Amino acid sequence: MQIRPIIGMEIHVQLATRTKMFCGCAVRQDAPPNSSVCEVCLGQPGSLPVINRQAFRLAMLTGLALNCRIASHTKWDRKSYYYPDLPKNYQISQYDLPLAAGGLFEIDTPQGARSLRIRRAHLEEDAGKNFHDVGDCTLVDLNRAGTPLLEIVTEPDLSSAEEAYIFCTELQRLVVHLGVSEANMQKGQMRFEPNVNVAIEADGQEYRTPIAEVKNLNSFRSVRQAIEYEVARQTAAWQEDHDYQIGKRPNENRGWDAERGVSDFQRGKEAAHDYRYFPDPDLVPVDVTEAMLAEARASLPELPVARRRRFVTEYGLSIKDAETIVDHRATAELFERVVAAGAPVEVAGKQFVNAWLKLANDRACAVTDLGVSETGLAELAKLVAEGTVSRTAATTLAEAMLSRPDPPRRIAEELGLLQVRDTDATARWVEEAFAANDKAVRDALANPKKMQAATGFLRGQVMKISGGKADPSLVGRLIEERLSALRG
Ligand SMILES: [Zn+2]
Repeated sequence: MQIRPIIGMEIHVQLATRTKMFCGCAVRQDAPPNSSVCEVCLGQPGSLPVINRQAFRLAMLTGLALNCRIASHTKWDRKSYYYPDLPKNYQISQYDLPLAAGGLFEIDTPQGARSLRIRRAHLEEDAGKNFHDVGDCTLVDLNRAGTPLLEIVTEPDLSSAEEAYIFCTELQRLVVHLGVSEANMQKGQMRFEPNVNVAIEADGQEYRTPIAEVKNLNSFRSVRQAIEYEVARQTAAWQEDHDYQIGKRPNENRGWDAERGVSDFQRGKEAAHDYRYFPDPDLVPVDVTEAMLAEARASLPELPVARRRRFVTEYGLSIKDAETIVDHRATAELFERVVAAGAPVEVAGKQFVNAWLKLANDRACAVTDLGVSETGLAELAKLVAEGTVSRTAATTLAEAMLSRPDPPRRIAEELGLLQVRDTDATARWVEEAFAANDKAVRDALANPKKMQAATGFLRGQVMKISGGKADPSLVGRLIEERLSALRG
C-alpha cells in the first residue's frame, strides 16, 4: 500500500491598513471592546460601505507577488450567514470575480524548488469575536468586524506536512516583506486552513479519502501537526472501512485541538450552508486600470525567495545564512548597503548572523534599530578581513559599538582588542593553555579518536586567555609546533 497526501491551503491574511475595509473605524487590537465601531461595521440599516483604497492596493500587490492575473473588473458579493459576531448577517466578500487568480508561488524545499499554483486571492472583511468563557454567558466584541482580510487559496499541490510548513513560513515572509501585513500569528493576523486528503494505492487501484478542512490554525506548528494527524487518521479510517472514500462519505470540517494533538469532527461539508452569494448592491465594482497596475508593479520589491537565491549565488553565502538575513527586509537591504560600502561579503555575512542579529534579538529589535551606521558595520567587517581584529574580538567590539559612536578601530584600540601577531606573546598564551589543560594535551598527543577535538579545544583556550586578541592562524601553527615538539 502506497499513500500520497494531497494538501491545499486557504490562508487569511489581515492587511496592515489604518482603517477597516468598508468604513473609517481604526483597526485596533488593543482598544476597549466595541469602541472602534460605527454604523457600517455594526451593520445598521441604511448605512453605506465605502471601499478602502489602501486595502485594495495591498491585495493587488500581494496578487502580483504571487504571479496572479489581476482582474480588470472585480466586484463585491454578500455571503449570507447568521452568527452573533456578524451583525449584518452577511459578510462582504468576492465570489465569482476575485481580485487575483491563477498564480504561482515558488518555494525552496530540501528536495529542491517547488512551484505551487495559487487558485485565487480575494478581499473580504473579518467578523467580530465571541468570548464564551465569561461567567455563563457569551460576550461579543465587534472591534475586529470589518477588518480587511485577504484570502489566498492554493490548488492542492502540497504533498507533505513539511512542504505545507515551508509554504506557510514562506508566505508569511512574503507578506511581511511586502509590508502588506504584520502577519503576527499570536494576534491572529495570519490564519491557516489546510484541506487534506490521501490517495491510497492498493491492489493496483487508487482510492481517495474524503477531504477534511482543518479550520483556523494559528501557528506553523499546528499546520504541520494537524496535517500529519489527518493523513494518519484518514489512512486508518480507510483501512478500517474501504468505503471511506470521497463521494461515498462526506467531506468534513474539523477543528484542531492543539493540547490533545487531535482533530475533531465539526460538521459534514454536505450540510454546509448555502451562502446565497449575490452582488452587494451598496458597493460599486472596481475596474483596475493599467495605471493602478503599473503603480503596484513599480512598488514591488525583490521578493524573499529571489533575494535569498541571489545572496547565495552572488555573494556566496550559505543557504542558511542567506535565509537568516533575508528573513527581514530592512536587514537584507542594510546588508546590501554594507557590502556596497566595501565590506568583504563573507565576513560581513558571518557578522550579521553571529553578532548583529544576536544583539538585535537580545534587544527585541531589528539590526536596523541598533543605531550602528552602515559605515560602522562595513568597517568592522574590514577590520576582521585585514586581520586587525579577530572574529572573536569583533563580537565584543560589535557590542561596544552599540553604545559608542567612535569608529570601530578606535574602540578596538581603547579596549585593547587589536589582534596580536607577536609570536612571543602568542607562544606564552599557548604555554599557559597547555599547562592548564593536561588532559586535552594528552588527548591531542595520543588519543586518535579525540585528537582533533582536543586540538580545537586548546585553540579555543588560547583565544580565551588572549581575550580574543590572538591571531587564530598563528595560534594554530604554534599549537601544532608545540605538539610535535612534545611528541619528540
Ligand atoms: Zn466602522
